[in-house]
Amino acid sequence: TIDTAHLAAMFAAIADAMSADRDRLCSLDGVIGDADHGIAMELGFSAARDAVAALDAGTTEPTTLLNTAARSFLNAVGASSGPLYATAFMRGAAVVKGKTTLDEADMVAMFQAMAKGIQDRGKAETGEKTMMDAWAPAATAAGEALAAGTGLAGSLAAAAEAAKAGAEATKAMIATKGRAARLGERSLGHMDPGAASAVTVIEAMRIALT
Ligand code: ADP
Ligand code: MG
Ligand code: MG
Repeated sequence: TIDTAHLAAMFAAIADAMSADRDRLCSLDGVIGDADHGIAMELGFSAARDAVAALDAGTTEPTTLLNTAARSFLNAVGASSGPLYATAFMRGAAVVKGKTTLDEADMVAMFQAMAKGIQDRGKAETGEKTMMDAWAPAATAAGEALAAGTGLAGSLAAAAEAAKAGAEATKAMIATKGRAARLGERSLGHMDPGAASAVTVIEAMRIALT
């Protein structure tokens, strides 16, 4: 089972992964956006890591940790990814409210609530060349894998694979949401930076939690 300390370690792992990926994400955003996505994600997850590390893992419940991460991410990030990930963590927090340890079903429910939160906040459907093109198939794959009995490791592995394929597929999409929508057909042929960073987030979650 997963507890508050595991979730704190998860944020540390995502923050490390974002620092390592920052320049690639800025380059991708430089092609179809304003080149700040890697900086935004590094700032957001570093702030979340620091805020949750300051909590007492022995007495703090997972829901409080996730709400703390949401607040700090939102405060740190001025870009559109700020409210999207903040909403993801707030929705994840709501799902695990009242629990001190999280089993595999709780974790997959939390993961799916994160994806739903991004969807509700950004109103993007799949095919619009956003991070939803990675998060939506990842959430579906995680649920299917759990139902098939693969456990949390199998679920997050399936999620990471689906996110990767989804991010790859954004190359063939025309952006209709976010800054890249201004480019119209000129966004074709390039991977969406938010979908690319979603793969990094999900893969870091998988490694940290399994
Ligand atoms: P900004 O465009 O404000 O600089 P970022 O560079 O941090 O923000 O994030 C850009 C990413 O945000 C895009 O690549 C896309 O994946 C995602 N995004 C933008 N608008 C939306 C939306 N409405 N729903 C989901 N994701 C979105
Ligand atoms: Mg940007
Ligand atoms: Mg920006």
